Parts: sequence; C-alpha cells; structure tokens
Amino acid sequence: MTATEIIRKKREGGTLTSGEMQFIIQGYVEGTVPEYQVSAFLMATFFRGMTKEETAEFTRLMLHSGDMIDLSHIPGVKVDKHSTGGVGDKISLLLAPVVAACGVPVPMISGRGLGHTGGTLDKLESIPGFRTDLSIDEYKNVIAEIGVVMIGQTNEIAPADKKMYALRDVTSTVECIPLIAGSIMSKKLAEGIDALVLDVKTGRGAFMPTYERSVELAQVLVGIGTNFGKETIGFITDMNQPLGRAIGNWNEVVESVEGLRGKNIPDIMELTYVLGGAMVWLGKKAATLAEGIEQCKEVVKNGKAYEKFLQLVKIQGGDISYIEHLDKYPTSKYSQEIKSSASGFISSIDSLELGLTGITLGGGRTKVDGVIDPKAGILLKKKVGDEVKSGEVLATLFTDKSVVVDSAEKRIASAFTVDNERPTSSPLVISVVDKNGVHPFTY
Ligand code: URA
Repeated sequence: MTATEIIRKKREGGTLTSGEMQFIIQGYVEGTVPEYQVSAFLMATFFRGMTKEETAEFTRLMLHSGDMIDLSHIPGVKVDKHSTGGVGDKISLLLAPVVAACGVPVPMISGRGLGHTGGTLDKLESIPGFRTDLSIDEYKNVIAEIGVVMIGQTNEIAPADKKMYALRDVTSTVECIPLIAGSIMSKKLAEGIDALVLDVKTGRGAFMPTYERSVELAQVLVGIGTNFGKETIGFITDMNQPLGRAIGNWNEVVESVEGLRGKNIPDIMELTYVLGGAMVWLGKKAATLAEGIEQCKEVVKNGKAYEKFLQLVKIQGGDISYIEHLDKYPTSKYSQEIKSSASGFISSIDSLELGLTGITLGGGRTKVDGVIDPKAGILLKKKVGDEVKSGEVLATLFTDKSVVVDSAEKRIASAFTVDNERPTSSPLVISVVDKNGVHPFTY
C-alpha cells in the first residue's frame, strides 16, 4: 500500500478500509507519510466525503493515535463541552469555571484557531504564562485539585488531531463533516469524560452555513458519542453574527472575564447559561436543564465562577495579575475606528468576513508554524438590531501591522449591512439534537 494509491482512491470517490486510513493517520503521526500527502488526502476527503462507517472508523483511529485518559478515580460525572467553531466564540472560557463552580468536574481538551474561527488554546495562551501543554499526570492532578483543567492535544493525547488540525487550518480543508467529527470526537473521547455537550454552530460564520447541514453534523457527532457510551447532546446555535463584541485572543479573554465578573453580555451569558445548565444537568447536579441554568447564574452572581477562573489560571502557570488588572496588558501599535456611512439599523454582520479579517490583523495563522499576535483583533460597537447614525463607530480594529490597516478597515465596513427597518430578532439557541432526534429548544 502507498499513500499515493490511498489518496487516488479517495479522490475517485472510493471508500477507504480501516487499514488504508490507519496508514495515513499513523504514518503522519510517525513521520513516514509527509505533510504534502496528508494535505492531498484531506483535500480529497473534503471533496469526496466519507460514508457513515468510514467516519466512525476514522474517528476511532484518530482517538487511538494516542492514549485515552482514565479519570474514573475522580468522583462525579465528568462533563465537557465542545463548539464546532465560531467567530468571537469564547464560551469555553466562561463555561468551564462556571460548571466547575457548580460542582461538576470539567476536563477540557481544546484546539487552536481553525479557519476563520478562533481557538480556546490561543485565547488561554494570550494570558502571560498560561500553559496548555500539561503532561497527563499534571492534567490529572489539576482536575483532581480544582475540578477543571483546560489543555490542548499533545503527543500522547489525540496526537493525530494535533497535527491534522494545524494542517487543515492552513489548507482550507476545515468545512467537512467527517474531518470535523474525527477531530472533535477524538479529543473529547480521549479526555476522560462521561458526558458531552456540543455547541453546533449554524450560519454565515459557522463551518456549516445551513441549518440542515448543521443538524447533519450534530447527528454524526451525537451518534459517535452515544456509540462510545457517552451521553451526548448537541445544541444548534446561531452564528450569523459574532458572539459578544470581542474578536481576537486577548480581547476575548477580557470579555470573558467581564462576563464572569457579572457584566451582562446578552448572547455570551445566554449561551453560557444554556450550555452550562445542560452540563450541570448531565453531571447530575441538577434535576432539570432549568435548574442547571439557575445554578450557573448563581455562581456568576456570587463570584464563585470568577474565583474558579482565577484558580485555573494560577494553577496552569498564568499570571493572574493580568486578569485582576486587565488594563495591564500591552496594547496594539495601531488602532482604527470604522465608521458607518449610512443611518438606520444594523441588519447583519458578516462574521466569516470579520473572522478572516482578524487573521490578516495578526490574530490567526496562515502557515502551520505561524505566530499569533494575541493583541490583534476587532471590538464591535454595534450588533445586529442596533440603531446607527451615519458617522457613528461600528467597530475598532487593533493590529501591530500598519500595512493591513486600510484593507482591514474596508473589509470590516463592508461586513456591516444597514437597513431602514429594524430586523426581527432570531433565537440564539435554535434546537437540540440527542439520540432520539431533533427537538425545538425550550426549557
Ligand atoms: N473543532 C475541532 O476541534 N475540530 C474541528 O474540526 C472543528 C471544530
């Protein structure tokens, strides 16, 4: 068997055997299949897809490229959440401490920025000193000690995803259900969870732009989790505008800290409470979703969630003085306000365009080993539904790269649509997918 034959088979729409997929995955991890062939395999898969059985086997092989962590010695139902990726999606930063403060252990393995979306690891690493590369022993000690831990894929845990994720980020091979499923579920099944909540994004800034494709992705993810014996539910949530007002790694840490300190950032807090409530419910600390939501609100109100976040930052090597004094952080060399040329109401904000612009500002990678500027990003002054007057500020960009300022300014301006009528509001949480099917969201 050669990598060339396997790539050709997938390119022609063939169904790969377990051995063929193992050849690529194992070979990539061990360095015997080079990156250019894995890139071709990813692109062939992107266009040809995988059968349901292939996707399940691909995920299993990705998972077994490394170790599965055993957390059975830790009391309680261990629950995690994963998002399929969005713009301004900093929910994990709030959710993990909130749920841990409710008494549910949260072991979390996340990813870096992917495509036009930001990644939890890059956000956490924007905190000076914060380490996401803990060893398995350190990971186990942290969760045992404080009830929450947040790390990335390592050479031991989901190593195939560690490499393939970075490669997909820069080869435009992200928006593909089997590759997303293998990536997300290999990390999640390796981390030692008992149950999983998925935030499956839909809309312009999501990897699945249509509702139907998002439901399809959710069903694949829930099916894999369920087959592995983990209680798994997926929420389909709107990504037609960025979440919150901050885009960019440090900007998003700041917004998360503000939310944890009790600031009402409507979409951020709604999603934190719904997903958190579901985690507390699956973690058997609440009898219903509604009760879980109330518990999450309470730990934000009484400061326990913020305290838990400080504990997490400290134990993973981060300098908490930057969290306690957010304005201590260095600022970008250049900032530019983007103003509206029309009056009316903001009817849409193109989150894909803002995510891509954020990368040009320095907030994301264009090569596997690209270095991120944690300060780079965009702060939105207006959200969908807001009234705006001509000349009013829509957003501010931050970068250290003077050459990109003009083009980024134009791209950000064109991402906003202003209409005469105020748009009708649409729900943030649309529906729920579990092993029994798809249900409208109510609680
Ligand atoms: N999150 C992941 O971990 N992987 C993907 O492919 C998409 C979102």
